[in-house]
Amino acid sequence: MKVKRQVNQLSKEIEEIEELKGDIGVFIDRDGTINIAGAGEYITSWPMFKFIPGTLEAFATLAKLPVKILIVTNQSAVHRGLITKYGIELIHGMMEFEIVSNGGRIDGLKYCPHTAKENCDCRKPKTLLFEELAKEHAIDIERSINIGDHIRDMQAGNDLGMTNIMVRTGHGKMMNLDMSSHEINIHYVVDDLKAASEIIVKELKM
Ligand SMILES: [Mg+2]
Ligand SMILES: [Zn+2]
Repeated sequence: MKVKRQVNQLSKEIEEIEELKGDIGVFIDRDGTINIAGAGEYITSWPMFKFIPGTLEAFATLAKLPVKILIVTNQSAVHRGLITKYGIELIHGMMEFEIVSNGGRIDGLKYCPHTAKENCDCRKPKTLLFEELAKEHAIDIERSINIGDHIRDMQAGNDLGMTNIMVRTGHGKMMNLDMSSHEINIHYVVDDLKAASEIIVKELKM
């Protein structure tokens, strides 16, 4: 019994140390990173939502790692009146269903419903939603990774000191990715989320 108590005590201490360290978060953008979306195109119903090829595999790869998988997305379609809050939550529920059915998971998701004009604190490149998720999930943000297709995503990751991975899908397809011309740190530019997940496996040496 004494040994058992000691083991329990020890695992409690390990847990506390882990907590102190904080988890690594992998923050993922939605439109143009997870699903196909052209510039100025709003996904307003589930049938419009198409996963970029390899995305479900990417989530399955990430799900095996000791990281928290978090989604942060700008959804101004809500305040433009193109979709309701319930509509967007339905899309996210279906998206999660597909991801989980294919061996992945989502640990947290937050979206900004505002338009750029509203000048809120949560629309990327602002960092509020990242900070909220980091707090809720005990994330060590400086050890975390940020993935997106837009320079706005990279700006947020840069401002928080995260490792930035830009994907060449969505806006990333069109953007001139001459990294030296930006003051934003982009650590990797890869073809898609699947390639990003493979970089993360290597980066974490797992
Ligand atoms: Mg995007
Ligand atoms: Zn907002």
